[in-house]
Amino acid sequence: MRGMMMDFPLTLTAIVRRAEQLYPAVEIVSRKPDKTLHRTTYGEVGRRARHLAAGLDGLGLRRSDRVATLAWNHAQHLEAYFAVPCGGMVCHTLNLRLHPSDLTYIATHAGDRAIIVDDTLLPLFEKFRAGTPIEHVIVIRHTNAPLPVGALDFEQVVAAGAARTGWDYPDLEENTAAAMCYTSGTTGKPKGVVYSHRSQCLHTLGASLHATLRLSDMDAVLAVVPMFHANAWGIPYLGAMNGARQIFPGPHLDSNSLIDLIAGERVTLAAGVPTIMLGMLAVLDAMPVKPDFSSVRHILIGGSAVPQSLIKSYRERYGLTIQQGWGMTETSPLASVGNPPSWLTFARPEDEDAYRARQGRPVPFVELRARNDAGALAPWDGVAMGELEIRGPWVTSGYYDSPDSAERFTPDGWFRTGDIASLHPDGSIEIRDRTKDVIKSGGEWISSVALENALMGHPSVAEAAVIGVAEPKWAERPLAVVVLKAGKTATHEELIEFLLQTFPKWWMPDATEFVDAIPRTSAGKFLKTALRETYGDRLMPAGAAPTAAALPAAAPAGRTS
Ligand code: ADP
Repeated sequence: MRGMMMDFPLTLTAIVRRAEQLYPAVEIVSRKPDKTLHRTTYGEVGRRARHLAAGLDGLGLRRSDRVATLAWNHAQHLEAYFAVPCGGMVCHTLNLRLHPSDLTYIATHAGDRAIIVDDTLLPLFEKFRAGTPIEHVIVIRHTNAPLPVGALDFEQVVAAGAARTGWDYPDLEENTAAAMCYTSGTTGKPKGVVYSHRSQCLHTLGASLHATLRLSDMDAVLAVVPMFHANAWGIPYLGAMNGARQIFPGPHLDSNSLIDLIAGERVTLAAGVPTIMLGMLAVLDAMPVKPDFSSVRHILIGGSAVPQSLIKSYRERYGLTIQQGWGMTETSPLASVGNPPSWLTFARPEDEDAYRARQGRPVPFVELRARNDAGALAPWDGVAMGELEIRGPWVTSGYYDSPDSAERFTPDGWFRTGDIASLHPDGSIEIRDRTKDVIKSGGEWISSVALENALMGHPSVAEAAVIGVAEPKWAERPLAVVVLKAGKTATHEELIEFLLQTFPKWWMPDATEFVDAIPRTSAGKFLKTALRETYGDRLMPAGAAPTAAALPAAAPAGRTS
């Protein structure tokens, strides 16, 4: 017997229509380049998005045509997030922090026909446009700078669409492509992930639950995470479906601007990477009069591991709760979220901090498992480490036009994340490393992430990265690269003494390099490939070429970020 429910397609159009009809007066607030605040509503954004879609259709853009965006987080970018997929096209967010040559490759590989671009980013666009298939340039004008020859004003396209009375979004099949995002490359070429309407809808539902981000119309959400980075973790659609106010920082990601927005707009949930939240903590600490953060329910941090010391500092000094999320561009991105289990409610605060330093439980419908070096599945014992494999309705089944990526999937169809994790008996996961970063010393794994997070808890350490470098006896040994806090000192020996409180002796870094800054990727993560290039033979005897056995294990092919 078959079920008899309607075969109603899961499309973003339902979310966009809902926001416009049910939450017409709920505000969308954006910080403009000149720092003033622009206020609009879901009613207005919904109406204008329909006009924008009609305008794009009027330009001759058709089903499945890729429309790129090169923009900061603001209301017009949200309009593009609504208009492009609901109009049947594919919204391809371009990461403005990438090198122009990467952007040329990505826009060409994706086959972008049009681009919606902030006027402030036109100089960047001009650097990568040549050679791309982009025909239509639609400029969001924040300043009085003249329009480039041949470009269209975003408002002109909206107005042209408004004139097409009666035009409405097409009916779409739920597996239609809605959006595209390329994994940010540090090795190899970037690879495109193609999201469907169905995957975006299910991701939005899964990420809204009480077990996950707990979104409602009581919320005011600040997406510090850029809309060009893994869909701003889905927040634009999460906010719209739940009727939450959305606050956008525009190009102003400095700590003072963010603090001002959080306090001034009564933000309940702010979301960003650890680097941003570390910077904000330092600025808060230096403020003689502390801002009113009483509205904040959670600060959601993801993108790389969150040091327990950061969680503790926010709790102790500001009464703020850190919620950690884990995911990848390939997983839409939210795959797990940390909400402490009920039995921790009355536990010591440090125990709750320790739980929050893990990556939480998988979102419903996401399934995880970990496989060890020998190919066996790791037990959920909190100790064994293995490469995390994942499957679920918002996990990619391949890369766009990239036939050489089969090795990223297991024979039974799970995606190989390239992350090393331990699975805990309470259902939470703990990311220990990436397969390309894990240190293999004498055949045993050492977690670089665990060592870094511990080092960042030392009172003199501002930032720390730990890498595996070639060493004659053990093949690979850990090396710490440390940035000290201004005016503080520490020696290698002192740091080792500190680490020995938590880790076994054989995990101890053999040496520490003190540096002014650690190079970062476009997403603010430590660029360990650059560190390995600089310090790769630091532990080799002078003049000796590393033996093949002493070379660090090669990264699995295909992992690009
Ligand atoms: P994202 O936009 O989520 O940063 P990327 O695809 O650029 O997506 O990077 C995904 C990778 O980032 C993961 O494979 C993992 O190594 C790392 N990552 C993301 N969130 C966390 C987290 N909470 N803790 C540790 N690592 C994380």
